[in-house]
Amino acid sequence: MAGRIPQSFIEDLLSRVNIVDVVDSRIRLKKAGKNHSACCPFHNEKTPSFTVASDKQFYYCFGCGAKGNAIGFVMEFDNIDFPEAVETLAGTVAMEVPKEDVTPQQQQKQKERLSLYDLSGSAAEFYSQQLRFHGERAAPVNYLKKRGLSGKAAKFFNIGFAPPGWDNLKKALSGDGDDEKMQGLKDAGLMIENDKGRTYDRFRNRVIYPIRDLRGRTIGFGARTLGDDKPKYLNSPETPIFNKGNELYGLYECRQIRQTLKRFLVVEGYMDVVALHEFGIHYAVATLGTATSETHLHKLFKIAPEIVFCFDGDEAGRRAAKRGLDLVLPILEDGQQIRFLFLPEGEDPDSMVRKEGKDGFEQRMKNAMGISEFLLNSLKQDIDDPTSLDGRARLAKLASPLLQQIPGKVLQTLFWQALAEETNIDTEQLKAIAIIEPKVALEPKPKEIAPPANNSQTLNTYSGPAHPQFDDYGDSQQYSGDHDQGDEHGYSDAPDYDDYQGDQQTAPAPVQAKEHPLIKQAIALILHAPQVVQAFPDLSFLQEFSGQYGQLLQRLTQILSATPAQQTLDALSLLAIDPEYQSYKQITEAYNQTQGHLSQEQVATDCLNQLRFKAAKQIKSKVVKKSATVGGFKNLPQEDQDRYKWASELFEADILNQKLQKVGGKVDLLSPQDQEKYKQLNPTS
Ligand SMILES: [Zn+2]
Repeated sequence: MAGRIPQSFIEDLLSRVNIVDVVDSRIRLKKAGKNHSACCPFHNEKTPSFTVASDKQFYYCFGCGAKGNAIGFVMEFDNIDFPEAVETLAGTVAMEVPKEDVTPQQQQKQKERLSLYDLSGSAAEFYSQQLRFHGERAAPVNYLKKRGLSGKAAKFFNIGFAPPGWDNLKKALSGDGDDEKMQGLKDAGLMIENDKGRTYDRFRNRVIYPIRDLRGRTIGFGARTLGDDKPKYLNSPETPIFNKGNELYGLYECRQIRQTLKRFLVVEGYMDVVALHEFGIHYAVATLGTATSETHLHKLFKIAPEIVFCFDGDEAGRRAAKRGLDLVLPILEDGQQIRFLFLPEGEDPDSMVRKEGKDGFEQRMKNAMGISEFLLNSLKQDIDDPTSLDGRARLAKLASPLLQQIPGKVLQTLFWQALAEETNIDTEQLKAIAIIEPKVALEPKPKEIAPPANNSQTLNTYSGPAHPQFDDYGDSQQYSGDHDQGDEHGYSDAPDYDDYQGDQQTAPAPVQAKEHPLIKQAIALILHAPQVVQAFPDLSFLQEFSGQYGQLLQRLTQILSATPAQQTLDALSLLAIDPEYQSYKQITEAYNQTQGHLSQEQVATDCLNQLRFKAAKQIKSKVVKKSATVGGFKNLPQEDQDRYKWASELFEADILNQKLQKVGGKVDLLSPQDQEKYKQLNPTS
């Protein structure tokens, strides 16, 4: 959006919106003294440490340090940029955002876009009314019933009905054929004009799935025929507000239900998304008849660190998965995870979740193939005897140039390691091969089908691999025509969506015990999230752990804190000479499997925190013992006294922090002694 927003307007806006309302419209706030609190939407937690201060018009999280004003909150939560956040907030208080340096043309374009949002919203409203009241609503209602869809889900997704007939929507929305409105309907892709200048509704006799952007505005529609019309699935065409390569069906809805998403499941069809939601999997999204794009991936990774791609188990599914792999490898950063889930042949997510329920489906996800496994498996399929010397050399030649593209250095190292194991060729040699061998895509892109003549409905057909025919699932659940009742799933109440939790067991204990298992875990985790080291300004507590791994952990953290710019490279060179590399890798992988639902950064931070407490405990008991031998605490060397003080303060701060969380982060609700302590421990605040 061109044009600068004047600073005076931003100040005016911030004085008119109330941050409490802004936050409360997105997550439920509870009053806590003068402030409001909630579980933080930006990190995972069970007790609220997220506070909104109405007097300061500011939010702050004691758990993760997230903070800012109303605009910052909307940017973070809605995942939008500054101008969009200003626009969003201005809309809630009926202010119009003035722009400096905007040409009249840009103004006109902006106006047109806004009117397209309006029209699309009105159309969604129209379709949803038709599903409730139209004389021929029996057909769509029966279809949805047969698909086992509850009324509440239909309402949550705002599913609608485009009745049979050529001009229902046109009549309803164009008024008396107002020129501007007619043009708008055409621009929004809702109306088609044929060669003879006749206009008619694009969607007729179809079930309508409105597609919404992250802000909840309707930007396009997906539609499934109720008759024999071709195509069976029809999407809105590209419009100034709808770009299929950018948008994902269900993304807005996912964010409505779950404030912190840990993973996304990418499926193919609208009904898959709706069915998965109905069964409690609230993190499914679908591409809109296009292949997954890089923009899609960036969009999803910005919100959650893991993406599971779901494919049909047939040949077409495999091919689509390989194309996905080609797309993902060049963008995969450290800390991001990708899995490939293949369903048994003849099944789709919709049918699968009905058969196996949420638990069964999530179990499948847990067992889904990791990306390096899938990559090597796919390549091996094209090799006659992958275990022979020739076969292994061939595998190395095929895989090396692909691995070379992965931007995440730690991930890349793990991939190299996997390939080295598989081929029995050391990584340096493999890297040399990568430089020589040209990169060949795993799966060439399918040839684009030339679009048929303009204005034809087939222009926007569902062009992905054929979706299996939907089966009829006999016993349908209750579908209440009245959308406000008749449902046991209760989306809108957002009950406790118990998260997909892997087994809570910890990683296998190291064989060479004596050293605390946390130390090895910390090494593995820090390699995946090197940035967490920056969050610990003082890591000298690690000196408490003087064993082999403890020393390595110290060296690792020293390098990472000293040279942030070269973090990963240095960490890797350090590891390359370590004979224990394999065991770190195993620990990391075990952790990924059991803790995959947590961000690695969070796990690594927790791990270091636990080690810090362990060190503090050790120091306290050592110093106490020593003080007995020298005739009292006062006779201890200053160094020991300082160490003791550091450890005690750490425990005090922890207890204080817990108390503070209980009172919603409000310091003046603490006891006077605690307030005093707080001031001592936080001299800056
Ligand atoms: Zn937080």
